[in-house]
Amino acid sequence: EEEGEKTLRSPICCIMGHVDTGKTKLLDCIRRTNVQEGEAGGITQQIGATYIPADNIRERTKELKADAKLNVPGLLVIDTPGHESFKNLRSRGSGLCDIAILVVDIMHGLEPQTIESLNLLRMRNTEFIVALNKVDRLYGWKVCRNAPIGKAMKLQSRDVQLEFEHRLTQIITQFKEQGINTELYSKNKERGETYSIVPTSAISGEGIPEMLLLLVQWAQKTMVEKLTYSNEIQCTVLEVKVIEGLGTTIDVVLVNGVLHEGDEIVVCGFQGPIHTTIRSLLTPHPMKELRVKGAYIHHKEIKAAQGIKITGQNLEHAVAGTALYVVGPDDDVEEIKESVMDDMRNVMSRIDKSGEGVYVQASTLGSLEALLEFLKTPVVSIPVSGIGIGPVHKKDVMKASVMLEKKKEYATILAFDVKVTPEARELADDIGVKIFIADIIYHLFDQFKAYIDNLKE
Ligand code: GDP
Ligand code: MG
Repeated sequence: EEEGEKTLRSPICCIMGHVDTGKTKLLDCIRRTNVQEGEAGGITQQIGATYIPADNIRERTKELKADAKLNVPGLLVIDTPGHESFKNLRSRGSGLCDIAILVVDIMHGLEPQTIESLNLLRMRNTEFIVALNKVDRLYGWKVCRNAPIGKAMKLQSRDVQLEFEHRLTQIITQFKEQGINTELYSKNKERGETYSIVPTSAISGEGIPEMLLLLVQWAQKTMVEKLTYSNEIQCTVLEVKVIEGLGTTIDVVLVNGVLHEGDEIVVCGFQGPIHTTIRSLLTPHPMKELRVKGAYIHHKEIKAAQGIKITGQNLEHAVAGTALYVVGPDDDVEEIKESVMDDMRNVMSRIDKSGEGVYVQASTLGSLEALLEFLKTPVVSIPVSGIGIGPVHKKDVMKASVMLEKKKEYATILAFDVKVTPEARELADDIGVKIFIADIIYHLFDQFKAYIDNLKE
């Protein structure tokens, strides 16, 4: 045993599932913070990463007396907006997530985005556990704050237990209909072929101990290879953000390797490769969200896995969803610049060459890709003449306005999960460019279609 022990990095865990199943609330519960209530409309608008140190996991699971031997330094949890799943968290080679929590609302069962998430997990061969959340909503539930679910379930009345069994059986059947075997974690003897279901409440905390333990144990048992720390940098840009006092920053997930202050980096930029140096490496305090405002900790160097905010020059046009490269002493910068733009070229090649089509704006390269793919499908078939990433600015409206002369109905911006600046909105209204905004792809299509049908009448 001893000699076989390797240095492991923290597993990266995604929380996925349908909107409102309690993904953000579960994270809150783990962190004991309250991000969810501070969010506009309670929906996660951005991607956040939370690092949970092993000590915290130990503390949270001690009641289980599992003698949890934790070989990993912690767990890095990523909360993704339900509608986007983690299509946009692309990274070269292996996917970003090692393991996932698929959240299902016990009162609703499988919902459309549960199935979408399930398909993504399957496609990527990502291991996952199911959190059957909101058990506290079972009629007559007796709250056992933060208790293991095994213990909490024993304290429930017969009626509650029966209702639970009934709903569990239904949900297991729904999974079976999707071709997936699931079983209550405590009865699951065939982990690997059968996925475990852990009942949880993100409000009163029952089941969180089992959920954390299962995740970590499963990861360190089956993914030693994948989790073995490697020096080769693997890093993905999650978001590009302007922060007061810091300028444009990029939020990244460092999956492997070490980043240093002063490192020479190359990232994919909307107007070509960006070659710059890391001015500062920042992290939030442990157990805090990357997107919660507050003082950051400065680091000389940071080892994977971590969610990190990077400041540096020329990052304004960095493209979220792409890989970050570090230029080593023996590396050819030009070569790296080439490969960093591969993802981008791939997307650009999907723009209509005739030059007639709508203008499309999305939050990340991944979501832009998803949208372009959708617009190309035969039933939809909307040509695209221009694309952009990030908020809609005046310059985007200007670009879209070119169509006013060619084909008026295409003088339209489809804005997917991005904001429109007031100046851009004003200009658009003035010159007659239509802007449709939605955070669900289908809704953009519906709006556009209604508009076209209306024009035809
Ligand atoms: P998300 O869209 O999946 O991130 O869902 P949220 O975390 O924003 O939760 C959606 C709503 O469900 C909020 O009103 C939460 O307070 C509520 N909620 C989440 N988890 C639970 C739970 O375990 N029990 C109950 N009763 N409500 C929950
Ligand atoms: Mg959320």
